[in-house]
Amino acid sequence: MENRVVLVTGGNRGIGLAIAQEFLTRGYPVAITSRDGSGPEGALAVKADVRDSESIAKAFQEIEEKLGTVQILVANAGITKDNLLLRISDEDFIDVIDTNLTGAFRVLKQATRGLVKSRWGRVIFISSVVGLYGSAGQINYSASKSGLVGMARSLTRELGGRGVTANVVAPGFIDTEMTAVLPEDQKKTYLSNIPAGRFATPEEVAKVVTWLASDDAAYISGAVIPVDGGLGMGH
Ligand code: NAD
Repeated sequence: MENRVVLVTGGNRGIGLAIAQEFLTRGYPVAITSRDGSGPEGALAVKADVRDSESIAKAFQEIEEKLGTVQILVANAGITKDNLLLRISDEDFIDVIDTNLTGAFRVLKQATRGLVKSRWGRVIFISSVVGLYGSAGQINYSASKSGLVGMARSLTRELGGRGVTANVVAPGFIDTEMTAVLPEDQKKTYLSNIPAGRFATPEEVAKVVTWLASDDAAYISGAVIPVDGGLGMGH
């Protein structure tokens, strides 16, 4: 049994759900946030929107009352609003940054006091292969995802001496609702570039996250861990 409290944002579906379930299987107390308040059985599901600091503050209050101080934070909530550079609106650029990057900052800021007090913490940002590889039509998304690398590395320098590690997991193509909407011919093109020759399951990302949160990964911080079947080699 592990007793460190885990929080996964966007833990009601896709990769976030798989991460929450993997921690639950290992006996951790798990809280998740979702926008509709739904979540997996066995987890404390709290309604929150990462674009709204007040809802995040309320979520932390409820989690602390019911489970205790969050010591493992997985910033997973994310969206895409893809478009070519000439067509993308300011709004779609800002929305994606606000959710994926500023959203991770808002959650991190709420968690920081508890992490410092505990003198032990794990922060894991779910980025993407395209954060460092780049992607035509995803200028907003890739900028938000590479921003998480700077955040993890600054956090490592700021709180590394207090027992807190901060790392980035960079998934490639994972079978979830986010990739289900891609056109078939686009999926085929992506597949032809992935050395592993397949997409991954959300569980394959989840197992890397639980390992990063464990004591076995205590000396890994500021790292970008790819889970991409070799797509982005050279990060
Ligand atoms: P998904 O769309 O299935 O899940 C995204 C989750 O984020 C959902 O739970 C959603 O409710 C939540 N979310 C979105 N906006 C939110 C907001 N404003 N406030 C709170 N929660 C919000 O997608 P997924 O594939 O499971 O993606 C999870 C993470 O992994 C995302 O950050 C995504 O960018 C990243 N990722 C996914 C893939 C992939 O191939 N699926 C690849 C690389 C990275």
